Amino acid sequence: MAITKIVVDRNVCIGATPCVFAAGTVFEMDGDNKAILKQKNGVKTSGPAERSQLEDEAVADDTLMAAAQSCPVRAISLFDETGKQVYP
Ligand code: SF4
Repeated sequence: MAITKIVVDRNVCIGATPCVFAAGTVFEMDGDNKAILKQKNGVKTSGPAERSQLEDEAVADDTLMAAAQSCPVRAISLFDETGKQVYP
């Protein structure tokens, strides 16, 4: 299994920020206090983002999973290369 797509549900995100502490090369907060994904060419959206679009595309799956699991409201969804949702 490899995590290839990440999405933050902005309607669910409450700006609690543990995702940023767990994976600071991937997540940061925007001006609305919602988590966004740091992507290439300075693109910063809540996704969906393919891993290949990430600034840190070499980030470990475990780090992405830890970030998603740290979210108290399960706002971060992860998908594998087959399109299957692997979290939550
Ligand atoms: S941990 Fe969840 S609620 Fe907190 S900022 Fe990240 S996505 Fe939003």
